[in-house]
Amino acid sequence: MMEYKGNPVSEGIAVGKVYLYQPYVPQVTEGEIPEGEVPGAIARYETLLEGAKKELEQICRRLEAAGDGDKAKIFTAHTDILFDVAMDEEIRDKITYDFMTPEWAIHKVYEKFIKILGKSKDSLIRERAADLRDVKNRLLRIAAGVPEKNLAALEEPVIVAAHDLLPSDTATLDRKQVLAIVTEVGGATSHSAIIARSYEIPALLGVEGILSCLSHGQEAAVDAIAGLLVTDPSPEQKAEMEKKREAFLLRRAEEKKFLSLPPKMADGTLLPIHLNLGSADARELAGEAYTDGVGLFRTEFIYMGREQLPTEEEQYEIYKQLLTAYGDRPVTLRTLDIGGDKKLQCMELPKEENPFLGNRALRLCFSMPEVFLTQLRAALRASVHGDLWIMFPMVGSLDDIRRAKELLETAKKQLEERGVPYSSTVKTGIMIEIPSIALIADLAAREVDFASIGTNDLTQYSIAVDRMNPALGEYYQSYHPALFRLMGFVIDSFAKEGKPVSVCGEMGGDPWAAAVLAGLGISKLSMGLASVARIKKLLSGLTMEKAQELADKARSLSTSGEVEDYLKAQLEPLLQAP
Ligand code: PEP
Ligand code: MG
Repeated sequence: MMEYKGNPVSEGIAVGKVYLYQPYVPQVTEGEIPEGEVPGAIARYETLLEGAKKELEQICRRLEAAGDGDKAKIFTAHTDILFDVAMDEEIRDKITYDFMTPEWAIHKVYEKFIKILGKSKDSLIRERAADLRDVKNRLLRIAAGVPEKNLAALEEPVIVAAHDLLPSDTATLDRKQVLAIVTEVGGATSHSAIIARSYEIPALLGVEGILSCLSHGQEAAVDAIAGLLVTDPSPEQKAEMEKKREAFLLRRAEEKKFLSLPPKMADGTLLPIHLNLGSADARELAGEAYTDGVGLFRTEFIYMGREQLPTEEEQYEIYKQLLTAYGDRPVTLRTLDIGGDKKLQCMELPKEENPFLGNRALRLCFSMPEVFLTQLRAALRASVHGDLWIMFPMVGSLDDIRRAKELLETAKKQLEERGVPYSSTVKTGIMIEIPSIALIADLAAREVDFASIGTNDLTQYSIAVDRMNPALGEYYQSYHPALFRLMGFVIDSFAKEGKPVSVCGEMGGDPWAAAVLAGLGISKLSMGLASVARIKKLLSGLTMEKAQELADKARSLSTSGEVEDYLKAQLEPLLQAP
């Protein structure tokens, strides 16, 4: 038995087997075979085909049994690719006549077809390039004798342990089979943490060097409340964890009773609660029933896990779905926010020394106006289906605001030229994530309709501490009085112009911080579905007068620790009460 400490970023408890996740990266080199070995190489190629077919069939069976028919269809299509006559013939020819090794022949032929598909005008055909790459990697992995590692199709419930999980890994993982997530890196506001919370999967990040201490299939217990990982737990420890898990589930069930209630404070004040979304799929959209709008749609997730950029049409369909679901309630689409910890397969980004300070988000969009305009046109087109608010991320100056608004005007003109309608009431706003814009919020408020404070980045940039680095956890101080002062200024500045400010960073869903934000005069709070019930419960026991008292104190105390202790002492009883 061993114990390791980590950063509990998504609450919960789990006991189970460890699944070591190290994504396979195929390494192929040019290779030739002697002429006499052609039949043997062909036979080996056929073995690879059979091996891949078997794996795919197994995945399909598992997904179908779990009622995940749509995902199963993807893998059935992969079997069709495997036996595609044109590719199969070309691979066999390359082995037979050019004496290529099966691996090299597979690589060459698949890459050729991936290129051809990638050039198609039809987005559906272009999409298939990603499937081809997936099948190619499967064949090459089998050839290398490496067993399958795929978070989208796990065989049994497991604790996933990885060095790091990319947002695209977490976004596609099979939620039903993941008991918990343990990683070596990643902070509380990394995007993997945000997704883990939204899936309600217990997650312990920043467990340094853990991969070399764990083995595949080893039993472990994750306490993502206390921040502990226990390997080979004793029967007593397991029983204790089980008890703690039950208590936790009970508390969560108690909170869930507040989910469908209005976000009403104890004195009757309503503080609208909006939803943070990473996609428009049915599971995420379920939160629609309990929220007053979408405060943050992280549109970059539409761009992840694919070979080609999403087209205007595809984006339009997604935005339309979201706007239609919310009817006349506001839906805030944040424009593409790539860079930092968010990478895209379909876009090669230059390597930078400091990616969080680099060519990211809005800056990146300015350097690729076509990509940006495509998204803006799609959003504008969807605006006729509801109440659309467009929000620009990572704004640092009024220049940024004006440039973004100019491009929005260009997108409008392009639609007008095409005779395509859009709503004339679309609102334009900014995220407050950079101190430079927070400090001129009075000026910014005159140029936009609304603002939303991205506390994850605002904390990172105000305190100059990397949000991804768990070793710096003690410096990433969410309750730093400077942040409350800064946010207070932003809220007051926008209020003077009669314009709303919300918070859509993780602080919005943190009960202690949310109480202070209410007191600072925030217009609404936006959060992942997992936090909604808890925040509604908190608000139900809090008067505005009390919230204002907390806000005053949070701005006048001297350290983050003091603020945290003070808020806990004041608010703990509200969350414990049934
Ligand atoms: C933020 O920075 O607080 C925010 C909401 O944006 P993201 O977490 O996607 O960077
Ligand atoms: Mg941000």
